[in-house]
Amino acid sequence: MKNQTVLISGAGIAGPTLAYWLARHGFRPTVVERSAVVRSSGSPIDVRGRAVEVAERMGIMPRIRDAGTDVIGMRFVNANGRQVGRVNMRALRSAAGSREVELPRGDLASILYAASREHAEFLFDDFIVKLDQDAGGVDVSFNRAPRRRFDLLVGADGLHSAVRRLSFGPESGFVRHMGIYVATMRLGGPFESGREVVMYNTPGRAVAIHPSRGDALAFFAFRSAAVPDFDYRDTGQHKRLLAAAFADAAWRVPELLTRSQRSDDLYFDSVSQVRLPHWSQGRIALLGDAASSVSLFGDGSSLAMAGAFTLAAELAAAPNDHELAFRRYESKHRALVGPKQQGVAQAAALLIPATRFGVAVRNLATRLWPAAAAAMWLGRRLARGSKPPDHLTV
Ligand SMILES: Cc1cc2nc3c(=O)[nH]c(=O)nc-3n(C[C@H](O)[C@H](O)[C@H](O)COP(=O)(O)OP(=O)(O)OC[C@H]3O[C@@H](n4cnc5c(N)ncnc54)[C@H](O)[C@@H]3O)c2cc1C
Repeated sequence: MKNQTVLISGAGIAGPTLAYWLARHGFRPTVVERSAVVRSSGSPIDVRGRAVEVAERMGIMPRIRDAGTDVIGMRFVNANGRQVGRVNMRALRSAAGSREVELPRGDLASILYAASREHAEFLFDDFIVKLDQDAGGVDVSFNRAPRRRFDLLVGADGLHSAVRRLSFGPESGFVRHMGIYVATMRLGGPFESGREVVMYNTPGRAVAIHPSRGDALAFFAFRSAAVPDFDYRDTGQHKRLLAAAFADAAWRVPELLTRSQRSDDLYFDSVSQVRLPHWSQGRIALLGDAASSVSLFGDGSSLAMAGAFTLAAELAAAPNDHELAFRRYESKHRALVGPKQQGVAQAAALLIPATRFGVAVRNLATRLWPAAAAAMWLGRRLARGSKPPDHLTV
């Protein structure tokens, strides 16, 4: 086999999944991760569709189920905390006969890392600073580790991918702000809502508390045009933006906002999509959010796992022809990603209605159970591009 050593940048969701499958196919993967440990923050995400099959074949589905948030509903409340709408998530899931599991993003990342750590070399607290590819391989300079040569390189380093910047060009050419900023932080203990997510909306803003199995999580989202000097690494700026966006909000927002200003675990970013004409150049390919972020509402983690599985399978099928393997991976995986990138606006309209009227209609709709809740479920599915089961079609 010519292309045996593969460097993967990023140990989020896509990176460890790819490392696992490459190793299973006989490659020698190395993963470089900028952070010193697997990062633990982020909202709960869903493992669904093809990702369930991938996880089953990795033998990690029981661990994923054990880490499931087990949320049974989502309550919408007004400024006084009074319920004004509700979605029965348990009923929707069982009506759909779904095998999907919702779990904290950080738990999924840890499970995938645990499954792959013995099959790959991991370099934490390091990152690529320079790349040079030629016909026979890619020379990589790291920030800390000595310079090395690899047969192939895969950028699985997320929305703000360094591999994409170094080999395809600046982020501004590929990353599209979707008009929303989002923040999450852990609350460090249980929340009294039991197994229900509680959300408070004002026009263009949403604040939610997710019980997340006793380790509750706060979620903020607000509509805003792109902030001109936005820096995804500047936590001070994130805290200022959050404070300004929610300054006059009621319910429990003042308390959550105060905590966000003290938090050392705040995740804040623009909700963005990534669109590139091609996902590979020579011996370098992109995967997960780096290639095709679908944004907050669009199944990014499940797609990242499915894409990693496909990329490894195509490389194994054409071990001496990486260009063919990259082309096949891209054409297969784009067919999954494309439709999901289309429907994000509908999901945003339901979770973060832009107007007072929109908030009222959404709340009313959830009270007209079950038809309206099914419609809402359909809205989410549409946003994710999957086909509704016949009995839920309204
Ligand atoms: C901390 C965190 C919190 C998140 N929270 C949310 C959320 O609340 N809601 C949501 O919808 N999505 C969130 N995401 C994005 C979500 O995880 C992805 O959409 C999805 O999981 C796709 O996975 P991925 O592996 O492509 O990217 P990611 O999960 O983003 O993983 C990318 C990995 O690459 C690492 N990395 C970044 N730059 C470099 C570099 N230069 N060199 C080496 N490694 C690098 C990152 O530390 C990370 O571990 C979050 C991502 C992160 C990293």
